[in-house]
Amino acid sequence: MINSEVRMKELSLLLLMCAAVSNTLAIYPEKDNKEEAQLVQDYLNKYYVVEPDPNQLGWKINAESTAEKLKKMQQFFGLKVTGKPDTETLEIMKKPRCGVPDVGLYGFTLPGWKKTKLTYRIVNHTPDMSKEDVDKAIQKAFKVWSTVTPLIFIRIHEGIADIMIAFGTKAHGHCPRYFDGPLGVLAHAFPPGNGFGGDVHFDEDEDWTTGSAGFNLFLVAAHEFGHALGLSHSNDQRALMFPNYAYISPSEFPLSSDDISGIQSIYGSSPNAPDKRPTTPTSPKTCGPQMSFDAITTLRREVIFLKGRHLWRVYPDNSAVERELISTFWPTLPRGIEAVYENTKDQILFFKGNKFWVISSYQVLLGYPKNINTLGFPKGVRKIDAAVCNKNTGKTDFFTGDKYWRFDENSQSMEKGYPRQTVDDFPGISQKVDAVFQQRGLFYFFHGSKQWEFDPTAKKVIREIKSNSWFNC
Ligand SMILES: [Zn+2]
Ligand SMILES: [Zn+2]
Repeated sequence: MINSEVRMKELSLLLLMCAAVSNTLAIYPEKDNKEEAQLVQDYLNKYYVVEPDPNQLGWKINAESTAEKLKKMQQFFGLKVTGKPDTETLEIMKKPRCGVPDVGLYGFTLPGWKKTKLTYRIVNHTPDMSKEDVDKAIQKAFKVWSTVTPLIFIRIHEGIADIMIAFGTKAHGHCPRYFDGPLGVLAHAFPPGNGFGGDVHFDEDEDWTTGSAGFNLFLVAAHEFGHALGLSHSNDQRALMFPNYAYISPSEFPLSSDDISGIQSIYGSSPNAPDKRPTTPTSPKTCGPQMSFDAITTLRREVIFLKGRHLWRVYPDNSAVERELISTFWPTLPRGIEAVYENTKDQILFFKGNKFWVISSYQVLLGYPKNINTLGFPKGVRKIDAAVCNKNTGKTDFFTGDKYWRFDENSQSMEKGYPRQTVDDFPGISQKVDAVFQQRGLFYFFHGSKQWEFDPTAKKVIREIKSNSWFNC
């Protein structure tokens, strides 16, 4: 194996020398020839080595000559197919590009994810741009793909997401691929799957920007997300999935018809065409003095506020607020959810009227909605105003009117002796509870535009605040 590799290198060097003699020796001095030979070899090894099929005898596939690889490369880029590293070919090889190979496992469209809701996580940020601009660029890059497919991208702030996004240099983390310093490879991504599957890495040695200088993060991210969704490189120069970087104005939609037909062949087209989507200007102003909420819950470290058909995702230690339509996340949920809580099993329960839905890992579980009687409420209870699970005790309190019920999450049964008067056990909470959630051990009760911070251990209100205090108004 080593011998054949050495021989192959010698052969390719010889080949390059011949090419150099016939084409470029008159123009370039000797040193440049060596550098170019190295460039060609590195380029072909990176992007034109067919990865051995484990079911086949790998060495047969790998035994392709440099000239054959060069021909493939020239064909891909629409160059004159000579099998020689001519000036035109070398120019292309020097261009900054994506680190994903043009052939091999990536040379065809992959099966894609088996689900339409995908989570992503921005593991770290580049210091080249503000955090906010990075977040926006990533969000916008996902939107490029969600506009033309049924895919939904949900950002998470901890744990393992389907698409883990990170910036790194040279050898980074446990990634099997390396970065090469400034220029050359800008980023790489892995096709759908577990582990590194779907992950996207950016070379921190590049200058990332929001504009046309350096490299536009939005454009490179949109390209890499194409790989993370199962697309390979396109040889169509107008395609976003073309391997080389090209700046296009942010006012232009970056997908070509080639990209769109590629992604739709995996996931199908968008269920609602962009112009039929509900517009957002009618959404309530969170910073208005009269802002009230229908229901609020934690979801891991974030807090979700619901009102009408909207939801807001608030990250207390991040200050970012994201507004979405409830239907974007859960098309089967109605608007005007009345109560919601996160239980001890990371599930979220949504209530409206006498029905409730259970959501686990962002999916509505089968068999829902169910009637609230199945939780142990008597027939007379027609709706729930608010609910909160005390993570320290494993008990969930359901508020309705001026009373509350207590539910044991462990035994999944209603406790005896309820309902009780809310104000008796929560002194200071004398009005109907619109919404309530628990954060760092404290309860936050909402009524109209007011909010009360309550210590459940000391059983007292700590302070009264405005309902929208979580929105950086
Ligand atoms: Zn690529
Ligand atoms: Zn990597």
